[in-house]
Amino acid sequence: MSTFSDFKKLTENIQPQDFLMPALFIGHGSPMNGIEDNEFSQRWSQLAKEFPTPTAVLVVSAHWFTKGTKITAMDFPETIHDFGGFPRELFEVQYPAPGSPKLARETANLLIPNLVELDHDWGLDHGTWTVVRHMFPKANIPVLQLSIDYTKPPKFHFELAKELVALRKKGVLIIGSGNMVHNLRMVAWDKLNEPEYGYDWALEISSKFKSKILDGDFNPLIDYTSLGKEAILAVPTPEHYLPLLYTLGLKTGSEPITFFNDKAVGGSLTMTSVKIGK
Ligand code: ZN
Repeated sequence: MSTFSDFKKLTENIQPQDFLMPALFIGHGSPMNGIEDNEFSQRWSQLAKEFPTPTAVLVVSAHWFTKGTKITAMDFPETIHDFGGFPRELFEVQYPAPGSPKLARETANLLIPNLVELDHDWGLDHGTWTVVRHMFPKANIPVLQLSIDYTKPPKFHFELAKELVALRKKGVLIIGSGNMVHNLRMVAWDKLNEPEYGYDWALEISSKFKSKILDGDFNPLIDYTSLGKEAILAVPTPEHYLPLLYTLGLKTGSEPITFFNDKAVGGSLTMTSVKIGK
């Protein structure tokens, strides 16, 4: 080990001190993605191989919409089957990842002066486990959830996320889990099994969302109702959209932004997902 190239070989596998774990927005779509081996779930499992194993996973799920912000703080969060009308096989899935009361307290402290309640009643809802079980099938990494305070405006969520960048530095993978375009009342149920099907308005707003994301032009995305009637159709209720604002709030400097699973399904849903960082 005397030459420069030997030294380089020795050091190139060591993570630099300023390594930032990527931040993700994942379009989770149907709960069936939790058990199906399809293009979306395959991409989730591939994705997890593209960065170092996280120290923990923190998910902001569309399906935990509460008064006040809460964080799961139990040692062993339950797998919650928060849906109806799906096959028994889906209800039988358990994702027995541990929690981390310590990380829950650390995260709550980071968010002061906002009061974050340490929660012992929730667990991992399907916005989390249907995705994370494909990424980390061994369930050996602590998984926590942060709730979305429905009393707060979109800007609050974007700003709150900025305080969580410190967790990325500690190797925590933060995932916003929702769907950018999510209008269940308009879903073409007979076309759900087509590989790709989006209404014109859904494709139009999806490409507008993407170009603003790529440009780092986040203010119109925070004030999404200003983006016209397509945005109102895409976001009839905010819970599946707000996780995106957490992910965007986690971007630092000139980090790269890439999209994956960029497809419309059932006319009025998009699976379009975002990776921030390398
Ligand atoms: Zn959902």
